[in-house]
Amino acid sequence: MADLAGKVVVVTAAAQGIGRASALAFAKAGATVHATDINEQLLAELAKTSGIKTRKLDVLDDAAVATAFAEIGRVDVLFNCAGFVHSGSILEMTDADLEFALNLNVRSMIRTIRAVLPGMLERGDGSIINMASLASSQKGVPNRFVYGLTKAAVVGLTKAVAADYVAKGIRCNAICPGTVESPSLQDRMHAQGDYEAARAAFIARQPMGRLGTPEEIADLAVYLAGATYTSGQAYNIDGGWSI
Ligand code: NAD
Repeated sequence: MADLAGKVVVVTAAAQGIGRASALAFAKAGATVHATDINEQLLAELAKTSGIKTRKLDVLDDAAVATAFAEIGRVDVLFNCAGFVHSGSILEMTDADLEFALNLNVRSMIRTIRAVLPGMLERGDGSIINMASLASSQKGVPNRFVYGLTKAAVVGLTKAVAADYVAKGIRCNAICPGTVESPSLQDRMHAQGDYEAARAAFIARQPMGRLGTPEEIADLAVYLAGATYTSGQAYNIDGGWSI
């Protein structure tokens, strides 16, 4: 595992799921972690872990993002994990659905990247990790029009940032998971009515025959935080879905 001693890491949407597992993994790797989310109650649990500081942060709020990053100061690693799954086809979305998802899944990352980049450029070092999905430019997935569109934008913005700053010490990569056990996945399975059938269908699309764990995705985030010879890549971590 990468040694992140002395590194300052900010994670968005860190209260549960992949963000939470990543905050814990970054701390285990020796980093000082700022775990941020809108859910203060769940964040309080994380605050008990050595190396983790918690902070309420709504990534939809421009002013709150600017204030938070000004107060945090130096950031060596930014993990943009916040994101939302809209279910449905192009005929089943509203303009409001699209606007909300663009704001949470894409613009939130633009906000946080703009907040950390000047400092990273001054130091000539920084790693930015953006949470995309296999449902993106990597793969068309049924019933995920808005989601796939916004996560494809995450891959695009990742490559664009990487291209602009690759010679200035900044790495920017995206993570593209398959289906991962998380509280919101549980909600999606329950929302389908027949929980067992929904779960079986999610597992069936993973050739490895199981869902991923948040910890497996967190390991990749820690790797990318410390990886010094890769940028602009979209890493599939998907139980074989994209083979
Ligand atoms: P989750 O969906 O269960 O949790 C999301 C977290 O985001 C919650 O703690 C919530 O409070 C927080 N959040 C919501 N709105 C916020 C806002 N405005 N500001 C800050 N925080 C906010 O977690 P998950 O399923 O692990 O998903 C995390 C990321 O991984 C998302 O970007 C998701 O699209 C992506 N992803 C998940 C899967 C999966 O199968 N779980 C697969 C591919 C990609």
